[in-house]
Amino acid sequence: MITFEQASVRYGERLALDSLSWHMNEGECVVFLGPSGAGKTTILRLITHEAQPTSGSVTVGTFVGGRLPRAHRALLRRTLGIVYEDFRLLNDRTIFENVALPVRVAGKFADEDVEPRVMFALDEVGLKDKQNAFPDELSAGERQKAAIARAIVNRPAVVLADEPTGALEKKSAEEVLALLRRIHSEGAALLLVTTRTEVAEALPARVLMLEDGRIVSGEPGMPAPPPGAESAPWTVEALGWSKEDEDTRGAETVPPEPERIVPEPAPVPPAAEPVDHSERKL
Ligand code: ADP
Ligand code: MG
Repeated sequence: MITFEQASVRYGERLALDSLSWHMNEGECVVFLGPSGAGKTTILRLITHEAQPTSGSVTVGTFVGGRLPRAHRALLRRTLGIVYEDFRLLNDRTIFENVALPVRVAGKFADEDVEPRVMFALDEVGLKDKQNAFPDELSAGERQKAAIARAIVNRPAVVLADEPTGALEKKSAEEVLALLRRIHSEGAALLLVTTRTEVAEALPARVLMLEDGRIVSGEPGMPAPPPGAESAPWTVEALGWSKEDEDTRGAETVPPEPERIVPEPAPVPPAAEPVDHSERKL
């Protein structure tokens, strides 16, 4: 679902990424491990299309690199949930409003449908009771959990995380990693970049070591052969979305109804021959 083909990024004299080729599939967990300045954040910025490769190509789903039309960029962002080292919450809004923002931006839901989605995401990260708090009333670990709720509230196909435990003490860091592990086990692909070996080790990840914009060890992965076409059309299917999903996707984000315990009523037997009661004698 994400493919880099000889993608390079140059900033003046500095080659931030040097002909990078790698691939990850839907539902995979990949960690880029490398020192500061290795190019990790640049990789994530290429995926979100905040940056363009100087040469080579970056494909996310069927969004091929290059400048995407606005509508495609917006759709792409909706299929990506992003978690940053410094949380990037809006400090003048409550936790509820921070998590609600990407739902409102998606623009698909009526106000009364936003609330259950947000509360479901807050419940997943254990912050239901903090919905009315402001970010500066939370611990760093709680702020990162709120940021994770914001990242997953639209049920993205991929969660991107840039040093998500960098600003956290050990216990919160472990909780945040456990949360990311769980989100991944529930089906989201996870791409995390970090300088910390122990973070890579805490995840069921394929680890790629990055130095000076190059993969120096690890299995870069082979892209699945493209389904038929050489140049796939710009559709959303490869991200696991279809038009139908567009309409129903939200339904997955609210808690499922409890299993039906009462069996379906037996089908009504075909009508018997009408009885002529007028003939009936007592
Ligand atoms: P990492 O996230 O691994 O620390 P980055 O991807 O942020 O590394 O940066 C890789 C290299 O590219 C670094 O040398 C950095 O200084 C340089 N770089 C990143 N962004 C820019 C930019 N906007 N302008 C100039 N140089 C940049
Ligand atoms: Mg970085």
